[in-house]
Amino acid sequence: MEKTIAAVSTPIGTGGISVIRISGDDAVQIADRVFVSVSGKKLSELKGYTSAYGKVYDKGELLDEAVATVFLAPHSYTGENVVELSCHGGMYITSQVLRAILDSGAVTAEAGEFTKRAFLNGKIDLTESEAVMDIISAKGRAAARSAIGIKEGRLRREIDDVKSSLIDSAAHLSAWADYPEEDIPEVSEDTLCENITNALSKLNSLIRGYDIGKSVKEGIDTLIIGKPNVGKSTLMNFLSGSEKSIVTDIPGTTRDIIEETVVLGNVVLLLSDTAGLRDTDNPIEKIGVERAKKRVQSCGLVLAVFDASRKLDENDYSMLEMLSDVPSVAVINKSDLNSVIDVDYIKSKVSEVVFISAVTGDGIDNLISAVEKITGAAEFDENTAVLSTERQRECTICAKNALEDALSALNGGFTLDAVTVSLEEAIQALLELTGERVSEVVVHGVFSKFCVGK
Ligand code: GDP
Repeated sequence: MEKTIAAVSTPIGTGGISVIRISGDDAVQIADRVFVSVSGKKLSELKGYTSAYGKVYDKGELLDEAVATVFLAPHSYTGENVVELSCHGGMYITSQVLRAILDSGAVTAEAGEFTKRAFLNGKIDLTESEAVMDIISAKGRAAARSAIGIKEGRLRREIDDVKSSLIDSAAHLSAWADYPEEDIPEVSEDTLCENITNALSKLNSLIRGYDIGKSVKEGIDTLIIGKPNVGKSTLMNFLSGSEKSIVTDIPGTTRDIIEETVVLGNVVLLLSDTAGLRDTDNPIEKIGVERAKKRVQSCGLVLAVFDASRKLDENDYSMLEMLSDVPSVAVINKSDLNSVIDVDYIKSKVSEVVFISAVTGDGIDNLISAVEKITGAAEFDENTAVLSTERQRECTICAKNALEDALSALNGGFTLDAVTVSLEEAIQALLELTGERVSEVVVHGVFSKFCVGK
């Protein structure tokens, strides 16, 4: 029997309320040992999905007022009996209430253990579990909506479709090979080939979408460069003033120190110290062309800023030379002033060129479209299934490779046995993706990235 676990599910800190979650066979009995409702009713007398207001005690000493919500198995997040105690959100109070619960028979939940139990109890599959992390860490609308879709089973359904068509083919092949005396229709190689090709095309499109999905989700390391006084800081302030997101410390989502996280349309831009925002006033003069080039080449996006009211000079020319093979947008700023800049020359070097005024905000929409286009985010459809973790991508690639082997075996005139073996390999990889057949090590790996209480 699994032990009953407990943890604080809200962030540790001072807030209006904190929620302490208890899950397991004894959740309700344990909660009854610390919680006394004002109605006098025990929580064990309550139906699922009901709440009671009352007080929390530790060995007779009053700790806090709280609302207890009871969920009865299997109708809860974890699929087990769950009680959620909402008490006042002070760090001290919360830790005392948790301690009283632990003293009454619960054990501390491990990182991600509530979600892990939901997975083990069949409430959600592994892709949906991973989506929980993505919902929590989403920095922008597209990332959040996409993660919610995956949590609702969008990826699972897509994988299930591919998987069941492969299972049908593999089953037919096996039956036909193993029971020759039965009247099983011969396997049509054309139909088999068509099935495999369809499955391959779906897997390939998932693999192609992974990188774009990743940048939408995690953001793109972005560098703003340009000679002094072209308006880099003004642009930066304008962008960060428009929408600034909060950087979290959820394991797995932390990255280099982020100076500014800016949401531009569908794209999250990470304008970071490591990207050298603070000292890029004049990368060309100050740090030399070579170092500037290295920085430019290692980032995910460059916003190269020019001043429309000044002619291009040596600094601009050498900057433009650096941009040839880097995703970049030429931002011609100060469009409110008289333009003397050689736009055609810039266009000959950079494919995306936009005019803006960082002071008035004119042209920002064009900048957003250009950034979405150059980063591929314009193609990102939050309503389609996307792979959201490296683990999912690896499983998909494994399945894809196996299907390619199956096709080669088929086209190369090998026995159908060879095709069956490859099909089974592909199915196994997809079962691992959804978590239907997966090793303990992988499951542990997935949930160890969660925080305690989730
Ligand atoms: P940086 O050195 O590239 O960071 O440039 P700043 O952002 O400090 O801007 C230099 C000067 O240009 C400041 O006086 C800004 O107010 C002005 N400036 C920035 N953007 C615009 C713009 O779009 N139009 C006009 N007219 N002035 C601007």
